[in-house]
Formats: sequence, structure tokens, C-alpha cells
Amino acid sequence: MTDFSGQKAVVSGATRGIGGAITRALLNSGATVAGLYGSDDQAARKFREECLESGERLRLYQCDVSDYKAVEEVFGAIEKEFDTIDILVNNAGIRRDGMLALMSEADWRRVIDVNLTGGYNMSKFGVQLMLKQRYGRIIFITSPMAREGFAGQANYAASKAGQIGMMKSLSKEVAKRKITVNCVSPGFIDTELLSDLPDEQIKAYRKMVPARRFGTPEEVAEAVLFLAGPGASYVTGSVLEVTGGI
Ligand code: NAD
Repeated sequence: MTDFSGQKAVVSGATRGIGGAITRALLNSGATVAGLYGSDDQAARKFREECLESGERLRLYQCDVSDYKAVEEVFGAIEKEFDTIDILVNNAGIRRDGMLALMSEADWRRVIDVNLTGGYNMSKFGVQLMLKQRYGRIIFITSPMAREGFAGQANYAASKAGQIGMMKSLSKEVAKRKITVNCVSPGFIDTELLSDLPDEQIKAYRKMVPARRFGTPEEVAEAVLFLAGPGASYVTGSVLEVTGGI
């Protein structure tokens, strides 16, 4: 296991699901983590209790990543605490599914605002702190829907494809400064993001996976820690798929 002691990370959507597993893995590897969460105070309280042994190495901030001013303020607070950061994980994300012909403008905009604009807001202020020290690792959590599309997910697939375009462009802007930018693309992962789906649909999705099972948040966290670690120093502008073969 890579030792991340002394490294400072920012993770969005840090208190549950995939973001929770990434935050736990970073804390267990010695990193200090500033975890951002949207509005679920209960999940944040529960998560803090679960991570008590990490003590001061876990800081939690309530922040809507789609709100430019709010993200700017949180990064101001993080800069005061940490000065610079080493790792940024753009994990926060939502779904608002519906066929495009019937999709409300609000559902289109909200998914783009959180998943894509949220990634811009976080990366803009995160990369500024990394440029100060000329080192950093930025990881977006995208989705195979970015390349495949999925009926009922035009907004989600567009936001995830947009993240890949942003990641590739940013990777070229900052490569000279020893900052890498990559995506991890998880397939179906057992989290609350899918909890509204009926059992029949879950079974049908499972059959679509060559490995015949959904992945775990911890399996996604392994890929994120690889990209954040020293073994990935020459990996940038890439998409690492964690899909069970989709
Ligand atoms: P989840 O619903 O359990 O977690 C989403 C997290 O995002 C929560 O912590 C929530 O607080 C946070 N969040 C939502 N809106 C926010 C906002 N406006 N500001 C700040 N935080 C906000 O879902 P998850 O499955 O853990 O998803 C994490 C990421 O992984 C998402 O980007 C999702 O698109 C992606 N992903 C998930 C799957 C899957 O099958 N679960 C597959 C591919 C990609």
C-alpha cells in the first residue's frame, strides 16, 4: 500500500458511496483529507463517527460543487489550513434520468451543473493550489456512459463525456508542472446512486456485466489511489475503467 502520509487531498462527495471509500482509503494510507459533501448532514455525521480514529486528518465542508462562489470560499478555507494540496478527486455526481424528448430543462441543467460545472469549479481552485508547489494529481470520476450513452441518461452521459474532454485539456495545460489529470470510469457500483432502481432493472444491469456482479466502492478507490500514487507518475490524460468488463 502506498504511504500518503503528509499528503493533502480534497475529495468531493466524500461522505458516502464511492467518495466515502476513496476518502477512507486515503485516510488509511496516511493522507489528510478535506471532504466536501452536498446536503446530506446525516451521512456526514455518520461518516465522521466512522473515521474518528483519523482525528484531525479528516475535515468536512458542506459545499454545493455547482456553486462557484461557495467552492471558491471552501478552497480559501482549505488554503488557509493546508497551504497547498496534492490530490483532488472530483467525485460528486448526480443522476436525473428521463428520455430526452420529455426531459425537463431543470433536470438537464442540474446534472450538467453538478457533474460538469462542479468539476470545473473544483479543478480551477484545486489546480491553483497545486501550481504553487508544481505537483499534483487530479482525478475525475466519470462513467462508461460517456462513450456508450444510455437511453434515459442524455444529461448524465453528456456531463460525463464533458468531464473527459475537460480532463484531457487540463492534462495538457499542466503536464509540465508535474500535475497529472486522469479519469477513473466505474461501471455499475453498488451505491445509493442506484438505490431508486427497481430490482428487475438491477438484475438486468447485472446480466449486462461480463463479471456478472456490480463493483464495490472500494474497488474504485483502489484505482483512484493508483493514479494518485508514485506508480502513476507518467500516466496523464487517460481514462482507467473499473467496469467488470462492460
Ligand atoms: P452517491 O449518490 O452515493 O454519492 C454522490 C455524492 O455526491 C454524495 O456524497 C453527495 O453528497 C455528493 N453530491 C451530490 N450533489 C452534490 C453537490 N451539488 N455538491 C456537492 N456534493 C454533491 O453516488 P456514488 O455512486 O458514490 O457516485 C459517486 C460518483 O461516481 C458520481 O460522480 C457518479 O456519477 C459516479 N459513478 C457512479 C457509478 C455507480 O454505479 N454508482 C458508476 C459510474 C460513475
